[in-house]
Amino acid sequence: MPQGTLFIVSAPSGAGKTSLVRELVESLDGIQVSVSHTTRERREGEVDGVNYHFVDVPTFEAMIEHGDFFEYARVFDNYYGTSRHAVEAMLAAGQDVILEIDWQGARQVRQQLPDAVSVFILPPSREELEHRLASRGTDEHAVIARRMRDAVDEMFHHDEYDYLVINDDFTTALRELQSLVIARRLTRERVSEHHAPLLTALLSGS
Ligand code: GDP
Ligand code: ADP
Ligand code: 5GP
Repeated sequence: MPQGTLFIVSAPSGAGKTSLVRELVESLDGIQVSVSHTTRERREGEVDGVNYHFVDVPTFEAMIEHGDFFEYARVFDNYYGTSRHAVEAMLAAGQDVILEIDWQGARQVRQQLPDAVSVFILPPSREELEHRLASRGTDEHAVIARRMRDAVDEMFHHDEYDYLVINDDFTTALRELQSLVIARRLTRERVSEHHAPLLTALLSGS
């Protein structure tokens, strides 16, 4: 079976990455989000195994030792990482997979899989980013201030990505992400793999 495509989506915290990716996978077939492991505290409304696999630091460090991570990084003093086994299984099953990861993780993934497609989501302004972080209502004041400071560091790395999407109007940004996924499915390589019998039939002598 042809392998799926790996998409990397990064953004400063609050830019709308999680909301956009959630809608994206609901709106298209054949694409899934990888559920990361993290040592950060669970937010109100987050479900273990759905938003993240929430683990403690010793568990995470044991997983690093065992080579269980495809990539991992420290972000905002917490560990975040992508399970190697889960991603490889989804890609091998022909699913497209989205990793919602930071720029450090994106670098590690590109080194291992140069064909991965990377997208950076930008907010329409600094003021709007701060407003979204505050209005989400899930983080304390100090956490928001820390994330705002780190946002600029994260955005500094936008030039390492293949595509940039500005999340001003949500529907427009969603349509742009859908277009990227669909365009990737229409590459000559992918269509000819998926439709090998059709091409054989079309090209066979009369
Ligand atoms: P959000 O920014 O509001 O979505 O906050 P999160 O706490 O969910 O994510 C914090 C940061 O960790 C973001 O920059 C994510 O891109 C990053 N992150 C989440 N999961 C992973 C992961 O599995 N690996 C890496 N490298 N980064 C991750
Ligand atoms: P991230 O995962 O990048 O931290 P979220 O998806 O949690 O961001 O979005 C942060 C907040 O901004 C949420 O409350 C979300 O509903 C809101 N939001 C996302 N995109 C838009 C948009 N285009 N316009 C207005 N609010 C948005
Ligand atoms: P939050 O704590 O707000 O859910 O996420 C904060 C940041 O961690 C986000 O920018 C997100 O992209 C990043 N992140 C989440 N999961 C992973 C992961 O598995 N690996 C890496 N490298 N970063 C992650």
